[in-house]
Amino acid sequence: MFTDVRSKRLMLVAHCVLNQNSISDGTAEFPASNLQAVNLLLHSQIGIIQMPCPELHCLGLARGNVHGGEQPVLVENSRIRSAMQRRPAATMLDRLAKLVALQVEEYRRYGFNVCGIVGIDRSPSCGVNSTSIKNHESRGEGVFIKAIRKELRRRHIRVAIVGIKASEIPKALTSIRGLLKHR
Ligand code: SF4
Repeated sequence: MFTDVRSKRLMLVAHCVLNQNSISDGTAEFPASNLQAVNLLLHSQIGIIQMPCPELHCLGLARGNVHGGEQPVLVENSRIRSAMQRRPAATMLDRLAKLVALQVEEYRRYGFNVCGIVGIDRSPSCGVNSTSIKNHESRGEGVFIKAIRKELRRRHIRVAIVGIKASEIPKALTSIRGLLKHR
């Protein structure tokens, strides 16, 4: 089964790696995609799974605050983090995390190599090494990454997760190259 030309290698990436239009107002760092990260993945013959943007699904494009772009980023990010933890956003967040974990589980079931997950540091939702809490960038994970981890653990699945920042491209590419080596 699945012995055609497909590479059977996959990586999950935060939605905004491919689509910066999803980002909260005032924080996009590219017109459309993080080209260097995407190019690296495209040239690695790895299937790219674009995870849903949790904040877009849970709070909307304006994140529930049309003046959010006028706030300092960490202040607005911290507000978003709190909003993501309240219902009904939190219910949707859990649903999205389940959908991500389900895809990983299904590919693993058939022997595909899911090399890892790429999150976005400082994000209240997709941060891996750092997130935004109490108006500061602090060590810790965003609420979506936490929910994905919980869901993967429940299914006894281990997947490497790295966080990248658009402002630190060489480091980001090194992190992604590290995931690409995962078997
Ligand atoms: S970091 Fe996560 S929540 Fe923020 S825009 Fe990207 S995908 Fe959406």
